[in-house]
Amino acid sequence: MDFSTVLIDWYEHNKRDLPWRKTKNPYYIWLSETILQQTRVNQGINYYYSFIKKYPTIHDLAKAELDDVLKLWQGLGYYSRAVNLHQTAKIISIQYNGKFPIDYPTLLKLKGIGEYTASAIVSFVSNQPYPVIDGNVYRVLSRIFGIEDCIDTQNGKKTFKKLATKLLNKENASVYNQAIMEFGAIQCKPKSPNCEECIFRSYCFAFINKKVELFPLKKSKTKQKTRFFNYLVFNTNKSIILNKRINKDVWFGLHEFPLIETDKQINNQEELLQILPKSFTNKSDVYLPSIKIEHQLSHQKIIATFWKINTKKLPKPVKNQFIISLNAIHQFAVPRLIEKYIQKIL
Ligand code: SF4
Repeated sequence: MDFSTVLIDWYEHNKRDLPWRKTKNPYYIWLSETILQQTRVNQGINYYYSFIKKYPTIHDLAKAELDDVLKLWQGLGYYSRAVNLHQTAKIISIQYNGKFPIDYPTLLKLKGIGEYTASAIVSFVSNQPYPVIDGNVYRVLSRIFGIEDCIDTQNGKKTFKKLATKLLNKENASVYNQAIMEFGAIQCKPKSPNCEECIFRSYCFAFINKKVELFPLKKSKTKQKTRFFNYLVFNTNKSIILNKRINKDVWFGLHEFPLIETDKQINNQEELLQILPKSFTNKSDVYLPSIKIEHQLSHQKIIATFWKINTKKLPKPVKNQFIISLNAIHQFAVPRLIEKYIQKIL
């Protein structure tokens, strides 16, 4: 039996029962694929249900306010996915009259749809022969075939694409693509793959050569950056200032407290007062003990210090800031870091 037949047979006996596998609706498939990028199925499934419940058609998503989409997305991270989802929904709703284009080159022109998502949509919906290549596929192919090209180089990407295209079962691209991703997700996992009970163990290069943990190879280790955030939680009669993030940075479109970012950690009130603008300080302000929270993102660690300042008069909000009652904060989309803090204080 060839590779794809063995793999598809394994899939038919082991696949998980997932809702997006029971539909050919391209909108639902696109939603699920976007949600599942960098997200585990267990976490993503509830978001999938929430989205199709609140926005059952692409027109519904297109008509929504971005703030509402971000609120529903809250907790999933990588918020640019939600921003792109919303923009692309508008384009398909208006320019394509809500009819999802099932055409690989056309899909690639839409925001947030790269080669992986385009392949997934056209193969799952209409069995078009485009191989999906995601982290699961890189791992499975590199281990079984012993491919030593680095997956984060142009040459490496070409090698994997060539092999993935060759292995693809062209008559059954939909099932084959789902099978190889499922195999990577539940059998050939990044850590502790189940090699002892694996259909490929008799010829898997990595297993035979005891190199499973080495694959796939990467050229560069992503450098971790540490950032120091100082949040100013002004509080007067349970009113606070919120700031909407609008810069090209993490958490675009989400809300937070007024922020001062520093290049080193601010440890006490004296140090804080030195960096605070004069308009932010009143003699009668009371600084409460600060709360520190470390928050890990994919490529950066954020060390956030929340300075709670009880004040008689809130500073004047600047552009993109506004005053709300503390209890209303739940209505706004906030990053997980801010959510953690709110859970501590409310
Ligand atoms: S033998 Fe292990 S490393 Fe090789 S394909 Fe199977 S699970 Fe993956």
